[in-house]
Amino acid sequence: MKTMQIAIDGPAAAGKSTVAKIVAEQLGIIYIDTGAMYRAATLKALETGVDLSDSQALSDLLTRTDIRLEPGDTGQRVFLDGTDVTEEIRSDKVTRAVSEVAAHRGVRSRMVKLQKEFAEGRGVVMDGRDIGIHVLKEADLKVFMIASAEERARRRYEENQIRGIGTPITDLQAEIEKRDKMDSERKESPLVQAADAVLIDTTALTVPEVAERIVRLAKERAD
Ligand code: C5P
Repeated sequence: MKTMQIAIDGPAAAGKSTVAKIVAEQLGIIYIDTGAMYRAATLKALETGVDLSDSQALSDLLTRTDIRLEPGDTGQRVFLDGTDVTEEIRSDKVTRAVSEVAAHRGVRSRMVKLQKEFAEGRGVVMDGRDIGIHVLKEADLKVFMIASAEERARRRYEENQIRGIGTPITDLQAEIEKRDKMDSERKESPLVQAADAVLIDTTALTVPEVAERIVRLAKERAD
């Protein structure tokens, strides 16, 4: 189990990271949120004022950028050039821009390289959009997690309420659907279910139910 590699992919706000964290904890392996890495890269691009459509400029910028994921008391912390940006990368500004940045080949190849290094020789649960197809092609277990757009917007709305953010639910659903469209229609590593991935529709399931299902599948694979 200590070297088990699990890939979780799916559209925005399907509950991937919440579930992935629990699964990693239960199996005693690390969790890597690859979306957080694209978000950190996007924050850097916005801060430096690089043109988000300029592939070369973004690639150059990333060669001068240090992105780290480290375990913290309240979950994984994200560091951009040594500064903790865990909360900042969830801002609306970053969320609106991230899919444009993540569509560039140069950006993706740098992120995928880092992700492969993080996962090298260890047990890991990694969530994102291209994990089962590109990053962990040989994963022991691949899961593709979906939920209706209405349910995903409702969940994001509830999360936001706790954080004191009042974005209307209709705006959240529109943003989620727009990001899914960009992520699914891009040329480089579009969001798509791997042929050997297990599909889990979480619309009518609770977080513990989904986590339990994945842990059970992982244990079956380990046997
Ligand atoms: O997972 P999260 O919603 O935080 O991801 C933010 C964005 O990062 C996605 O909408 C997508 O554009 C990009 N992403 C990606 N490949 C991954 C993870 C995230 O393109 N493996």
